[in-house]
Amino acid sequence: MLFLQNLDFEGKNIFVRVDFNVPLDEEGNIRDDTRIKAALPTINYLLEQKAKVIIASHLGRPKGKFIPALSLKPVVKRLSEFIPQEVILAPDVIGQEVIKLKKELTENQVLLLENLRFYPEETANDSTFAQLLAQEVDYYVNDAFGACHRAHASVVAITQYVKKSAAGFLVKKEIDYLSKAIHSPQKPYTAILGGVKVSDKIPVIENLLKKTDAILIGGAMAYTFFKAQGFEVGRSLVEEDKIDLARLLLDRAQEEKVNFLLPSDHIVAAGADPGAEPKTVDSFPLPSDLMGLDIGPKTVEKYSDILARARTIFWNGPMGVYEIDTFSQGTKKIAEAVANSEALSIVGGGDSVAAVYKSGVSDKISHISTGGGASLEFIANETLPGIEALTEKEK
Ligand code: ADP
Ligand code: MG
Repeated sequence: MLFLQNLDFEGKNIFVRVDFNVPLDEEGNIRDDTRIKAALPTINYLLEQKAKVIIASHLGRPKGKFIPALSLKPVVKRLSEFIPQEVILAPDVIGQEVIKLKKELTENQVLLLENLRFYPEETANDSTFAQLLAQEVDYYVNDAFGACHRAHASVVAITQYVKKSAAGFLVKKEIDYLSKAIHSPQKPYTAILGGVKVSDKIPVIENLLKKTDAILIGGAMAYTFFKAQGFEVGRSLVEEDKIDLARLLLDRAQEEKVNFLLPSDHIVAAGADPGAEPKTVDSFPLPSDLMGLDIGPKTVEKYSDILARARTIFWNGPMGVYEIDTFSQGTKKIAEAVANSEALSIVGGGDSVAAVYKSGVSDKISHISTGGGASLEFIANETLPGIEALTEKEK
């Protein structure tokens, strides 16, 4: 795979795929510009190398239609505040006018294309569309880690129509960290898995079973595993159709000699709302009218103990309903245990990352992935379509 340092960008037109899929409020203001900031090192490097920079991203889900509310206009304004160059918003993604803008681009400007997903060809990984994206482009740079698990035209097909392709700084950093957890984890290696659905995370669990020494389960997911062992879990969320699979995974853990742990106590309440009165229980059956909404203090202690000795930690999925203070303690305490460990620690997943920031220990985590789905898919499959596309070309 090529990286930015491997190419000479001077005077070249560079198509940079970034992830500027920022959250917008009702008036179309950017609520969080983390993703814009994350792409700045690559954009600035290319500009310093005297490249002509053409930036492209998707935003929201326009589903192949030109939706003005999902224009990248708000991004132009914010990006302009971060770089001295003039940011020009193209009126479209492809077409004559865009070609003209690409040709006339100077080193004191950057060109931002409109929302890639205004075209259904983008998500279809259409090769004609990719070819049009690559018009007047010399090299392609992928710095959109959050989109690397998608085989889309601006992520995969486009690499066929440019002279060279390289990974940007953000993509490189993500691959470097996540690869450590896949290929060369220091032992003991502990994974923490939580969140709602077992079904979402099956490939992740299966691959982690081959690599880890311990897997600590929390969140609603735990109750499907408890049910699989015949315990009564009250009104806790259970995926009834995944109980057999959960049993299979428990057997696999035993075969692989992985210490597969479920919570030893629970914070239960009538429902996941701020007014619900929490109770701590440490035995089954759980009260039939209540549901498990967080891990209890005994579980926190046990898990923290294991985390303190870990050398590698991968975490996906909150331990409870962290959005509500009453049920956020388990997740917060586990975040602290991860932060205080000596381990190389990696957190991936949209809610998991939000939970870590909420816990206030984010600066003590080795790597917080910018790609929720992408990081999980990378842990599960050990590669991503967007990463494959960058390597393919060099073969
Ligand atoms: P990520 O986005 O990090 O992959 P998930 O989306 O799988 O994580 O899970 C996050 C969600 O899981 C949160 O909205 C949280 O409220 C919910 N959750 C965690 N534990 C429970 C529980 N015991 N009962 C219900 N929901 C839970
Ligand atoms: Mg989520």
